[in-house]
Amino acid sequence: MDFPHLAGWAALVVTLGAIIFGAGRRLGREEGAQLRRRGEAGLESALYLRGLHFLLADEPDKAIEEFVKFVRINSETVEIHLSLGKLFRARGEVGRAIRIHQTLIARPNLSDEHRIAALHALAEDYRQGGFVDRAVDAFRQVLNVAPDHRAALAGLQAMHENEGRWDMALEMLKRLEAVTGIPDPRREAHIRVRMGLEAQQPPSQGVGDEGAMEQFRAGIRVFPGCVEARRLLGESLLGLGRTREAIDIFEALKQTRPSHFFLLMDPLRRAYERAGDEEGFYRSMNGSLTALASSARLVIQWALLLEQKGRPEEAVEVLRIGMAHHPRSLAIVSPLLVLLERQNRTGEALEIARRRMEDQLSVQPAFQCSRCGFKSQDIYWKCPQCHQWDTMEPL
Ligand SMILES: [Zn+2]
Repeated sequence: MDFPHLAGWAALVVTLGAIIFGAGRRLGREEGAQLRRRGEAGLESALYLRGLHFLLADEPDKAIEEFVKFVRINSETVEIHLSLGKLFRARGEVGRAIRIHQTLIARPNLSDEHRIAALHALAEDYRQGGFVDRAVDAFRQVLNVAPDHRAALAGLQAMHENEGRWDMALEMLKRLEAVTGIPDPRREAHIRVRMGLEAQQPPSQGVGDEGAMEQFRAGIRVFPGCVEARRLLGESLLGLGRTREAIDIFEALKQTRPSHFFLLMDPLRRAYERAGDEEGFYRSMNGSLTALASSARLVIQWALLLEQKGRPEEAVEVLRIGMAHHPRSLAIVSPLLVLLERQNRTGEALEIARRRMEDQLSVQPAFQCSRCGFKSQDIYWKCPQCHQWDTMEPL
């Protein structure tokens, strides 16, 4: 049985069990008073146990049949309908789930709590079935009655995101954050990025639109490590000729998210160029090599750019520094060997390749257990993992 269904089944089984247990207790108290009810309870127990039996035998279709019979004779109990509806939805039988939940909602004497639960379940049915407008409508109905309903807020938020209705997605996110007390700055930043891009939409206005830039700024405020918000704001500033501000926006990523700094290397280079400060860019890059913002990707990009600019010796030096900082990165070694070869420094290249090869081999396992796959550098006559004798083969 699929794992996602297990939760649905568990909820149903527990609900049904609780109902039967409750009925049994009532009967115990009112001994002999309600024989008809006792007969029903007996039938319920039998159906329940048969359902459970099929469930454990991994025959969910037969189990559902038994549980549906149960619902027919115990039609008053709302929880069973909710559990069964959820189960149908989990199995992809959205039509049946919708019918169950619609029937529930149509009941005149339904409590507020149950009505909200059924409406929310119906919204989830619609969402899964791809009926977007109906799902949105049902989520809104839930929120009309229960404005703080977390699942409905989260559901509606996700739907607005999927539809690209970014302003509404943001509104729902704010409401959700207020209810849960848990902020989601990365989500907000990216929603703001999308809102900014939309504000730029008419190409006539394009880059430099004030409303768009305000959204990018808001994105950076809420999540200073947002690469996209920085990139787009910086590009807008460049478009307006405000190069120094653009440089500051890009450079700040070194502190706020050093691991991703390499992604802004290209716009940063253009910004320094526009500012007529190419040396500033060299200083910035060389400074990043040994700083927090250093990453194998940054090292490689910077070295390739240096080579393009006709500075191959510096490119080799950058890769050597990078190799010392990222000793496990093979990605740096490959362009280094290429560069050395181009400069006819074959001896150096061979020496580096040989040393890297030895490093690799020293951490590579030499034996593997043919039973359980355990790997090690030394041979064990009894596998430490599966405890079989003499199963290790050389790799
Ligand atoms: Zn083993």
